[in-house]
Amino acid sequence: MDPKEFCIRGKQMVDYIVDYRESLDKHRKVFPEVKPGYLRPLLPDAAPEEAESFEDVMSDMERVIMPGASCPAATELEIVMLDWLGKALQLPVEFLSGSGGGGGGVIQRTASDATLMSMLSARHKTLTKLGREQPNQVDGKHLSKLVAYMSDQAHSSVERAAIIEAVRVRKLPSDEKFSMRGVELEKAIKQDKENGLIPFYLCATLGTTSSCAFDNILELGPICQREGIWMHIDAAYAGSAFICPEFRPLLNGVEFADSFDFNAHKWMGATFDCSPMWVKSRKDIVNSLKVEPPYLKHIHSESDIITDYRHWQISLGRKFSSLKLWFVLRLFGIKKMQELILSDVAMAREFEEFVRKDERFEVTNEVKLGLVCFALKGSNELNRHLLEAVNREGKIHITPTELRSKYTLRFVICWGNTRESVRFAWEYISSKATALLSSPSE
Ligand code: PLP
Repeated sequence: MDPKEFCIRGKQMVDYIVDYRESLDKHRKVFPEVKPGYLRPLLPDAAPEEAESFEDVMSDMERVIMPGASCPAATELEIVMLDWLGKALQLPVEFLSGSGGGGGGVIQRTASDATLMSMLSARHKTLTKLGREQPNQVDGKHLSKLVAYMSDQAHSSVERAAIIEAVRVRKLPSDEKFSMRGVELEKAIKQDKENGLIPFYLCATLGTTSSCAFDNILELGPICQREGIWMHIDAAYAGSAFICPEFRPLLNGVEFADSFDFNAHKWMGATFDCSPMWVKSRKDIVNSLKVEPPYLKHIHSESDIITDYRHWQISLGRKFSSLKLWFVLRLFGIKKMQELILSDVAMAREFEEFVRKDERFEVTNEVKLGLVCFALKGSNELNRHLLEAVNREGKIHITPTELRSKYTLRFVICWGNTRESVRFAWEYISSKATALLSSPSE
């Protein structure tokens, strides 16, 4: 299915919802009769390689989803979809709930939520361990000593999580490719321990916001394991690309992580919001937020074996976001999704070529996926003017960043771009540069 047809089918889905509501009084029960665990045997073990028809998926709505209504179908589909997607990403089996270990996946709303939850889990795990080892410490003593690590390129959501969780955070300097390296982490841990602090968490980024750089998780991971530091991987944008064998090596080292997250709404065709997150140890995330008021006790006697996603996130209520993944994975199929990502990256490379061939410009990042950072050779002021000129008419929109104090423009390919739109964007930018350079006061 191409992305256009996907939108047309969306309209059909609205009809289905209206029909469903009208059928409620007639032949639907208000409470499902299925037993927990009913759904997994009704579905294949993995996402389809080839696209399936819309009609097939819709008939499965009646066969698979409707008997479980929103609950437990929403939870059970989420568990299975996260396993499908985890397999497509070739995540280590410890992250998959079907493997029977302690791991599993959940759909968070955003990458910021995933970072917050992973830090909370790490904080709880460390404080519990310290509380056991040193029970006589005054309240809050351990908390005041915790230190989290991020690179100077990590997203602001890491700092915000640390503010909410009242822990200090230390930014490690990245190398010349904007990558966080093991040597800087070792240095920081040594210093912090000497100062009586307790390193407990590291957020590594695969595909940083500013330049789509990749932290060296093969170096960072073993250090975190040795030191008992929780390693979270934030791959908000880049994560979708790891379903392609060509880009999967960028995820090597994920085996050292405790949690991993990316935004399927950024580059995998799911609408906002849909941020799949996996943890190796579900008990760490669940224990960090478990509060059980009597009005939320399960009526099922199997409550011990039920995944209860309210413990995996801040809010109690949840959306049926796994349906998005179910539709996207089945209607496109893994092969088509790989093709779309490869074609997007090829478009970014084409844009990079346009920039490189124009001597007035320079490319300011290493283009690995769909983000091209570029600037006019010249002052930050000049590039600020270029950005304003490009964005003024609302035909295209470019966002800026600073890379080592260099003001830089960012062009990113996401879901649904075409070669024509990329060419148009370049010609537009180039014409604005010509106007600006011939009349700098513009
Ligand atoms: N992490 C990275 C690397 C990002 O690039 C972004 C946003 O662009 C985020 C986190 C925050 O994303 P969200 O809006 O899903 O919280």
